[in-house]
Amino acid sequence: MDRFISANEYKRRVMIVDDEEINRLMLGNILESEYEVVFATNGQEAWDLLHGEEKDISLLLLDLLMPVMDGFALISKLKEDDELKRIPVIVMTSEKEAEVKSIRQGASDFITKPYDMPEVILARCERIIKLSEETTLIRSTETDAVTGLFTRDYFFEYIRQIEAHFKNRIDALVFNIDHFHLVNEMYGRDTGDATLRHVAETLEEVLRPNAIISCRAEADTFYVYCAHIEDYKPLIAKIQEKLGNVSGSSKIRLRLGIFQEADPDMEAEQRFDRAKIACDRIRGDYSTYVAYYDKELYQRSIYHERLIKDMEEAIANEDFKVFFQPKYDITSDIPKLRSAEALIRWMHPELGMISPGDFIPLFESNGLIQKVDHYVWKKAAKQIREWKEKYNYSIAVSVNVSRIDIFDPELQDKLKEILKENGLAENELMLEITESAYADNANTLVEVTESLRNAGFLIEMDDFGSGYSSLNMITTLPIDVLKLDMKFVRNMEKDEKSMKLVELIIDIAKFLNVPVVAEGVEAQSQLDTLKKMGCEVIQGYYFSKPVPAEDFEQFIEKEIS
Ligand code: C2E
Ligand code: CA
Ligand code: CA
Repeated sequence: MDRFISANEYKRRVMIVDDEEINRLMLGNILESEYEVVFATNGQEAWDLLHGEEKDISLLLLDLLMPVMDGFALISKLKEDDELKRIPVIVMTSEKEAEVKSIRQGASDFITKPYDMPEVILARCERIIKLSEETTLIRSTETDAVTGLFTRDYFFEYIRQIEAHFKNRIDALVFNIDHFHLVNEMYGRDTGDATLRHVAETLEEVLRPNAIISCRAEADTFYVYCAHIEDYKPLIAKIQEKLGNVSGSSKIRLRLGIFQEADPDMEAEQRFDRAKIACDRIRGDYSTYVAYYDKELYQRSIYHERLIKDMEEAIANEDFKVFFQPKYDITSDIPKLRSAEALIRWMHPELGMISPGDFIPLFESNGLIQKVDHYVWKKAAKQIREWKEKYNYSIAVSVNVSRIDIFDPELQDKLKEILKENGLAENELMLEITESAYADNANTLVEVTESLRNAGFLIEMDDFGSGYSSLNMITTLPIDVLKLDMKFVRNMEKDEKSMKLVELIIDIAKFLNVPVVAEGVEAQSQLDTLKKMGCEVIQGYYFSKPVPAEDFEQFIEKEIS
């Protein structure tokens, strides 16, 4: 595609700088048909015009011998000016020697006096303007406006050029700023941009002896193509120290993922993808700053690719099974079956049983989870109906709703469709939404939850107490059940603080009139403690592990006998 706007679309401005009127007139006459022509009688006058009203000149036609400021002097002044150095210069001369000298100094071309045929002059002008505009265009996509580092595309293009000539086992480094979105949210975009610039400068400064090139690949992610370094720990410490704080208070922290001494025959993009996998792996880990892409990660990513590839087929073949774990009401002496949670298992024909911990986070990260969740909702609803028909007993089942589902504008319609298919009411299929979804986008979560509740659905807040914003959330978010994060129950008997927290959460829930479900209860002692504190519902191995539907029936049968 030709991005050059041709002369008939709009007329560019050119400047003729010559002290002799006859020359100005003759040349002006030739150029007038294609361009808006501006005149100056010497270098100084041209310089003043360029700094004044004539900023967008596309080409200078410059005489060399002039009073006040000659052509050579103007060329060298232009080359030192950041704004004006982009303007191409055609020198008009009658001496061969001056031509060579002017080209060396930075002129783009020359026209000999007496003037050539008008067509030749016009053709030269057009060619030079086109060339210069295309170069500017390329330059503008070369660097990132915020940090001045290369852009991602340019970075990889550059690497290809380097490696065409010399192959070396370099290190691929990926840096990411921890919690960068918080910097933007708390201090605003300007501080965010300043932070990015500061990080870019610090990286360049500290890594300079080894870094070959670097870029800002996206938002707060930097790539560095780097000669091999054996130990990155001291470097990272130095970078961290130089980075200091954003706006005085919060520390800027970087994470580094490294793919070391990579095979140069591997695509550069792939090498950096691997470094990024390593970097992503330590996201949210406060004790580790540096991660290497190693064999384990390699096998993990192969495994992940396999799971992604097999997902569709697993849905079609019904290899995903829905298990059910009972929740018991413990308020009276004899525990009473209250509801169940639907939990997915993958019975892979070749890899065996895969637990959700191995594929749910993966599918959450690439959006595939929506399909899987929808499948589970359907299966769970169908099961509720079958039990209703078989036992004339309605047991409410809760299903997990992923954070991505929350942003699906069709979420409510999809759920209603499933209920309709099975003749169920909204309160028979309960929805567990994880607390951490609140951190993504509190407003949307509140909106969606409110609308679901208005439609009659019951919302259980899952993993409560696991995030930063628990208290904030519970005061703004309308919910029906609060599910205490499992780690509290696990630590309750070990440390006083967890015990106190559990008590506090149960008190708050009481105050808000919301029942608490404690998850992960395995021992009688835990149950007793929770009961004493006023916890109403228990889910855990103490009563049962998640089991297939046919095994779950014993709990129903016991209940109705
Ligand atoms: P979750 O929603 O917090 O589910 C509770 C997890 O705790 C389940 O693990 C359950 O088997 C386990 N658990 C229950 N009682 C005990 C206990 O007494 N001791 C111990 N050690 N563990 C107990 P599971 O089934 O492996 O699921 C793990 C996570 O995967 C779930 O955590 C949930 O976040 C996710 N998940 C499971 N099924 C689905 C699904 O269909 N959709 C989505 N989006 N996520 C799902
Ligand atoms: Ca859950
Ligand atoms: Ca949970």
